[in-house]
Amino acid sequence: ALVDGWRALVADPTALLLGRTVPPLALAPGDLLARRDRTFASVQEHYFDEPPVIVRGWKQYLIDADARVYLDVLNNVTAIGHAHPRLASVVARQLRTLNTNSRFNYPAVVEFSERLTALLPDDLDTVFLVNSGSEAVELALRLARAATDREGVLAMREAYHGWTGLADAVSTSIADNPQALATRPGWVHTVESPNSYRGTHRGAEASVYGLEAAAEVHRLAAEGTPVGAVIAETFYGNAGGIPLPDGYLEAVYAAVREHGGVAIADEVQVGYGRLGEWFWGFEQQGVVPDIVAVAKAMGNGHPLGAVVTTRAIADRFRTQGYFFSSAGGSPVSCVVGLTVLDVLRDERLQENATIVGAHLARRLRELGDRHPLVGAVHGSGLYLGLEFVRDRDTLEPATEETEAICERLRELGVIVQPTSDRQCVLKIKPPLCLTVADADAFVDRLDEVLTSGW
Ligand code: PLP
Repeated sequence: ALVDGWRALVADPTALLLGRTVPPLALAPGDLLARRDRTFASVQEHYFDEPPVIVRGWKQYLIDADARVYLDVLNNVTAIGHAHPRLASVVARQLRTLNTNSRFNYPAVVEFSERLTALLPDDLDTVFLVNSGSEAVELALRLARAATDREGVLAMREAYHGWTGLADAVSTSIADNPQALATRPGWVHTVESPNSYRGTHRGAEASVYGLEAAAEVHRLAAEGTPVGAVIAETFYGNAGGIPLPDGYLEAVYAAVREHGGVAIADEVQVGYGRLGEWFWGFEQQGVVPDIVAVAKAMGNGHPLGAVVTTRAIADRFRTQGYFFSSAGGSPVSCVVGLTVLDVLRDERLQENATIVGAHLARRLRELGDRHPLVGAVHGSGLYLGLEFVRDRDTLEPATEETEAICERLRELGVIVQPTSDRQCVLKIKPPLCLTVADADAFVDRLDEVLTSGW
């Protein structure tokens, strides 16, 4: 029965009813959680009351130790899906051939760097390979310092850019770090979150946000502290998957460049086709950054990140600084990167994100006609945020309700979590192979929870 169950799952995972069980794996979870708590410095409690024990992934599904199947709605890292057979076989082959300290040259690093730069505007032609989004942002900020000889950085409030020194300093999201705004070093200058749903300029012209942030850049320059760089997510992720107001980055980039600074685009979360229509978030804003930080989807869960910049900035950095990462861009990481790009193209996952994402957004908006708790549906492609409010005029965040809804959805076979500083937005970032049937299954369960109560 066990083998048959798994064969059925592999042959047609969508035939499984979410929340139903498949035959258990030959794995006893036993006291795994208690053992983990003794030995593993985990922060999972920050995200889950009871962290699930996940033992298997397949495409857009996760399977726990009790063999329950879940739809994975939250996993923006695993863009091409869990346990992709092509990825598994190239990694195995590469491990049998060569995996080394990245100090050497090998074909995959050249090929991957070329493929990556081909996806970006012409001037962004020089790649540094690292192991995570935090490292990518860290290096991006160091490149900016080297390029401009300036420390000052303009950052948006309600943003998250990573946990390492410089990346943490520009991360202002209080959901991730309640001390975030209180502990900024002096070189970080923050401006209002460009959250057009909740910002102080609600209902006003979208351009107001960009003009205000640009005015802050000019004010700092007039005071004698011109900023060296602006760092921004190109689609407002932590705030709930909200597009930046029209013209926002154009205004901010122009102001920073006018005073000799450079523009860093954090594409760690949104880049790589998740937005559907645009491969990168900055394309939606019609701008070209000087430095781009990429990670998450590019490795599909394997530790892989990159900074892509201009030759001029890279050369300037080389004269002043030193960068070496033992495993960053290792042969295995590079074949992973290449295969993820192949799968995105061959399985037309960006197109799928556009089609399934539009269907899902439409169905979620329809929920809003019947359930007053639904405040807004934000986002694009398979990068959506469903914001819950207690009152559509005051926008009082439905924080406790959102947490309870996530718990109920988990009982019904859907893994999803809250995001934003108010924790009242359902973060909807599934693998890009999500089907229309999955989207319907998710919305039907959500409808059930909103109707029957949580
Ligand atoms: N930048 C953004 C926008 C992110 O969302 C994240 C992670 O959530 C990071 C940077 C840091 O990436 P990592 O967790 O891979 O270090």
